[in-house]
Amino acid sequence: MGFFNWFSKKEENNKTTTSQSIEEKYQSILTQLEKHKKTAYLPVVENNPISFSAHSKYGGYPYLRNENDWPVCENCKLHMSLFLQLNLSELPIKKDEGLLQLFYCTNQEEDCESKLEAFFHFSKATACRKINIENHSAEIKPNNITIFKEKRIVDWQPKDDYPHFEDYAIHDVLINLDDDVYDLLEDRQAGQTIVDDKLFGWPYWVQGEEYPFDRKTNSQMELVFQIGESEHIPYMFGDAGIGHLTQSPDNDEELTFGWACY
Ligand SMILES: [Zn+2]
Repeated sequence: MGFFNWFSKKEENNKTTTSQSIEEKYQSILTQLEKHKKTAYLPVVENNPISFSAHSKYGGYPYLRNENDWPVCENCKLHMSLFLQLNLSELPIKKDEGLLQLFYCTNQEEDCESKLEAFFHFSKATACRKINIENHSAEIKPNNITIFKEKRIVDWQPKDDYPHFEDYAIHDVLINLDDDVYDLLEDRQAGQTIVDDKLFGWPYWVQGEEYPFDRKTNSQMELVFQIGESEHIPYMFGDAGIGHLTQSPDNDEELTFGWACY
């Protein structure tokens, strides 16, 4: 489309008009994108000794309500690795009681990731849950799993975040986005979707948009946390994949994680 426009305009030998119109289109898209701007929060992390704490963190041990509270993989029957724990009272906005926890089976010997299709939402190779903090965490010796280095999330940096172009159609942002305009947005780093780890904001889609839906109400689920290119968790989803922890707007216990890669 972009190429065709360029070509036909060039044939008319009207280069000035073409470049002006690209700039105009760029400004118009930017104005539209501005209306859909959200604030995302980038985690600031510090290394921390592994502990059964209730803090927001990547890796380490999870907070456990009791000795049988650590989720087990259905395929290999081993404890799953803690990828992320969010203490909802420590969030920069939408503070709440309790914790969100994301567990993922990384057992490569048993190939759980592909057997249980961990990339799909609601896979049995992942566990996502919202739990209350009751007493001190139970402490158990996990069975043979990967425990990632614990990185405590000590702060959140707000940053403007814009919808991914895969989302434009859904949100009526886009009328027609020429390749030229798209390139210009990228060159100027304007209206971009954050590709790093972030709380809230817009999902960065590697393949097409893949919002999951609440299994009861069928509402489209919303992004809570993106595990992107920050590498706070030293685990790669396929070939440089990006994963999304999402939550139903109707039920805060309806949570899921899914990922896609290039
Ligand atoms: Zn497993």
